[in-house]
Amino acid sequence: MKLIFATHNTHKVKELNQLLPHSIELLSLNEIGCHQEIIESGKTLEENAKIKADFIRYKYGLDCFADDSGLEIEALNGAPGVYSARYAGAERDMEKNIQKVWEELACKETAACFRTVFFLHLEGREHLLTGRVAGRIIFEKRGSGGFGYDPIFIPEGQQQTFGELGAEIKNKIGHRAQATKALLNILSPKLKI
Ligand code: IMP
Repeated sequence: MKLIFATHNTHKVKELNQLLPHSIELLSLNEIGCHQEIIESGKTLEENAKIKADFIRYKYGLDCFADDSGLEIEALNGAPGVYSARYAGAERDMEKNIQKVWEELACKETAACFRTVFFLHLEGREHLLTGRVAGRIIFEKRGSGGFGYDPIFIPEGQQQTFGELGAEIKNKIGHRAQATKALLNILSPKLKI
């Protein structure tokens, strides 16, 4: 089965292809000749994932899915959330984003989670799938693995940050891995036909 992943990020496609069985082959937007940028104008992760998936579904008439992820901090009412990549400004500078999280969070509860949402168009039906990993924010950076907020996030049940834990553990307990499992649950029955 070939399925379009509505993203230009070939790194993301490669990463997800590794989590899915070989019988499912994900294609990026570049691979279907779509080089247009899809504006993520939603106010939630769900809205952004739907905007991207709808764009491809209605422009090309193809089954596809799109994702959006973010860090949600309880004491900040879910911020940075959908604005995770550009929390401190349009330049998407992770150093500044982390600094802003620390400033905003000072003296408050550190409970947080990462969430991934997939919006899937498959055979005329729409599916919204979510992956979530709970944890807490720390006020120093630890570890050089991963990306984004990984060095300041300790998942529940662990002593180390995602930056220290490495890809193998993150691929088991992480938000993207959880959403991918939910995606696979939907796709698996189709593979047996
Ligand atoms: P995206 O939707 O996967 O592109 O994620 C948007 C932003 O959320 C990223 O630029 C990161 O700042 C943050 N983010 C999403 N997933 C992760 C993660 O697994 N670790 C750290 N930061 C993440």
